[in-house]
Amino acid sequence: MRIAIIGAGVSGSFLASMLNSKGHEVEVFEGAKKEDHFPVCAWGTCKKMLDHYSKLAGLDFDNYVLHIGKRVEMRLPNGDKEYLNCLGLVTYHKQRWEEDLLNGIKMNYGIRCSLDNFPLHKYDYILDCTGFHRSMLPRVDDFIVPAYEYMVDNAPHDEFYIIGYKNATGYFWYFPLSNNKAFVGAGDINKRYHGIKEFFDENKGIRIIRKIGRPIRITPPTRMEPFNYKNVIGVGESIGCVFPLLGEGIIPSLICSEILLDSIDANGIDLKYYRSNVIKRFKYYDDVYRVVRLLISKEFNKIKHMNLLYSMYRNMKREEARFGFEISLNKLSKMLRSLQY
Ligand SMILES: Cc1cc2nc3c(=O)[nH]c(=O)nc-3n(C[C@H](O)[C@H](O)[C@H](O)COP(=O)(O)OP(=O)(O)OC[C@H]3O[C@@H](n4cnc5c(N)ncnc54)[C@H](O)[C@@H]3O)c2cc1C
Repeated sequence: MRIAIIGAGVSGSFLASMLNSKGHEVEVFEGAKKEDHFPVCAWGTCKKMLDHYSKLAGLDFDNYVLHIGKRVEMRLPNGDKEYLNCLGLVTYHKQRWEEDLLNGIKMNYGIRCSLDNFPLHKYDYILDCTGFHRSMLPRVDDFIVPAYEYMVDNAPHDEFYIIGYKNATGYFWYFPLSNNKAFVGAGDINKRYHGIKEFFDENKGIRIIRKIGRPIRITPPTRMEPFNYKNVIGVGESIGCVFPLLGEGIIPSLICSEILLDSIDANGIDLKYYRSNVIKRFKYYDDVYRVVRLLISKEFNKIKHMNLLYSMYRNMKREEARFGFEISLNKLSKMLRSLQY
């Protein structure tokens, strides 16, 4: 098949590599210029899952790992601290990983594609891998969290920590990289980004390497239809594959990409199969999304919303190995209690 991939992020680069190796004619269009292209992300993920996806694409993930976490410190809004043991939580060199996947692929940088300017008829399929932008699909009334971060040098800590905001409006993160570098950032629907100014006030020797940002979509796939338009198919964050409680989208986008690859048969891409499997796989993200929205609107009630809470916990526990940190009902309840403090 002739396939155009719009967006050279996580799903775009992974799919380009996989589809190319299966013999399809692949061409990638990336909006940023080659020299400016940089993944806006804190590069935190689960090693076990990235081992799997890297292996599928012929890469050795060990070559990209920057920091292996031991435990995540969570500073809660009521002043408490909680610690989550890591089960493979790492940061990795996401930029190099994506560049290596794109090795040997026909690339077009600096082209911002849209439905108005793209020659849809030249390809069998166009994959919208534009993440938050969803540039090639109809608009959806969705929910996004503004976010930005700094990549810094002379970083003072060598472990993950986060500061949760009251009513789950967002959180501050500190993600260590290697060689004293780290990402320091925050997502916050109120755009106050508590923790960032305080971090720089407390740590005077920090050198800022770059500042980047964009909003994160936390609307789940169940609320992001349509997944396709004409011969365009959305993959990854463009159709809501982000875990809503954390704004974590690397692994969900890769899971979605794998579903797309499984949907290919002798006739092309089986859209019915793709749609139903994406909905099925990410169904419980809808419950997580509802918990987050209820917390934000201060309507969450532990008794009234017990089913939602339990669904979130049960599904997260089932997927514990994919998150990269322990999932504990006790700690989750404590965290939710504190967010409502
Ligand atoms: C500040 C921040 C920190 C984050 N940290 C983490 C984290 O630590 N761990 C985690 O799992 N997730 C994190 N996320 C979320 C995660 O980065 C995304 O959900 C994930 O990268 C989505 O993958 P994708 O392939 O769908 O899109 P992306 O990886 O976002 O790639 C989209 C690509 O499309 C390009 N593009 C956009 N519009 C066009 C256009 N019109 N034409 C051509 N190209 C276009 C973009 O330039 C980009 O290269 C973070 C997000 C943000 C904003």
